[in-house]
Amino acid sequence: MRWAGRFEHNDARNTVLPSGNAHKWGHRRAKGILETVNHSSTQPGQVVIAVDVGGTGIKCGLVTPDHEVLHSERHKTRTERGAAAVIETILGVAEGLAAKAAVEGLTPVAAGIAIPGVVDESAGVVRYASNMGGLKDTPLRQLAADRLDLPVRVGHDVRTGGLAEATLGAGKGFDEVLFIPIGTGIAAAHIIGGKVLAGGHWGAGEIGHIIVRPGGPLCGCGQRGCLESIASASAVGRRYSERVGTTATARDVAERAAAGDVIAAEVWAETVDALAAALLTAQALYDPELVVVGGGLAEAGEQLLGPLRVALRERIAFFTEPEIVRAKLGDEAGCLGAALLALSVAELDHPTDQAAPVTVEHVTAP
Ligand SMILES: [Zn+2]
Repeated sequence: MRWAGRFEHNDARNTVLPSGNAHKWGHRRAKGILETVNHSSTQPGQVVIAVDVGGTGIKCGLVTPDHEVLHSERHKTRTERGAAAVIETILGVAEGLAAKAAVEGLTPVAAGIAIPGVVDESAGVVRYASNMGGLKDTPLRQLAADRLDLPVRVGHDVRTGGLAEATLGAGKGFDEVLFIPIGTGIAAAHIIGGKVLAGGHWGAGEIGHIIVRPGGPLCGCGQRGCLESIASASAVGRRYSERVGTTATARDVAERAAAGDVIAAEVWAETVDALAAALLTAQALYDPELVVVGGGLAEAGEQLLGPLRVALRERIAFFTEPEIVRAKLGDEAGCLGAALLALSVAELDHPTDQAAPVTVEHVTAP
């Protein structure tokens, strides 16, 4: 995980299993809900195409029904080219993976695409993605299904990553998991029994915009004092830089705080305090058993989580304190989550506890 990188992730909404080719791929629609009607059995060589689209890079690969990553690639998103070019890149990358599978004698059976923004996962439409070249009302699922001739599922990035962390990563064995990646922004995914809550308008989990310091720093959303404006990796770097007059990243702040820099320690303590305030709200709303902290800021490990546990404990009132741990899958979470989306639409998911993700091959494309 890049320290200050946008952290990617996302989901499956309750029992809805959207597919552009529902009838063809063994689903039926009943009362607006797409239900699974038959379970296919896994054939040797079957893989899904998993694509995790971020603001700067695309992480993608071929993944087996047992969640083994057989092949992975990274590409640049280059959002400055605009929405149409970004979509073409996503489709081209997915098509390239299908070709790679064919060369390796593998059979792609479905594709999953995780993307940041407001994603209507039922319709497979990206309603809005500000950092994707201004993507708006884009029927990504249909475009990909047409291009690949495969069933496709599209999910929100944080909810997709959260699904992977809860199912295959740090949340394995827990029923109620709150996944919070802290990178350029802060969001959350609430996973209950392997299902991610998406909200009534596909907007659940925006805890970065809980106001923790009324009148505080201006946030990108227009409010003041949002959690994200104080505790995101970029905000941590910015707040310290403002005080000392030189540019520093969140990683610099963590290192300097550990080395005894008083101002860095102050910024770090404020960060922990803001996160604890938001976690208390999250506990009141979601009551998770486990909080999984990911993203760049989580690379600070116990330097962040230790004081965060203490600060939450001091505020916890009558709530039960959740366990707070660091994410395990790092920046592979979004890609594995996209694979889970694909496996669900292909009806091939094996939600076993044995399958550990393994990267066999890693290719960096130009
Ligand atoms: Zn905000």
